[in-house]
Amino acid sequence: MANDVDQHKDQVKFAEVEAAAQADGQFSAKWADDGRSVTVKGHCPACDGLTSTEFPFGIGGSKGFRGPTTPRPAALPSPVTIYCECGHAHADRPPDAFDNGCGRFWEVHLNEAELRPKGPAQP
Ligand SMILES: [Zn+2]
Ligand SMILES: [Zn+2]
Repeated sequence: MANDVDQHKDQVKFAEVEAAAQADGQFSAKWADDGRSVTVKGHCPACDGLTSTEFPFGIGGSKGFRGPTTPRPAALPSPVTIYCECGHAHADRPPDAFDNGCGRFWEVHLNEAELRPKGPAQP
């Protein structure tokens, strides 16, 4: 039965290969309000599954140490490499695969404005 809500292609076999680059606007980045993480969302070019990858920043940040600590500015590289995280079971997926999708990865070019959190950088 056709399901036009989830157009995931279950028949795509797992393969760790680079997929074709996405079309403009296929992926979007949504920053957390505190600017410490960003989620890049879109549809996998290979299996069409909705994939969402979170990039946390500031992990390992040591809170409470004396002296000025300058955390690395939170920003995404451009392009950023996204792995399929569609969450669907794909044939031939090795049990130790670290990603949760069809194995495809690809480069996402985001708008300049999406590479950094919105709002003031300094408190
Ligand atoms: Zn998939
Ligand atoms: Zn996929």
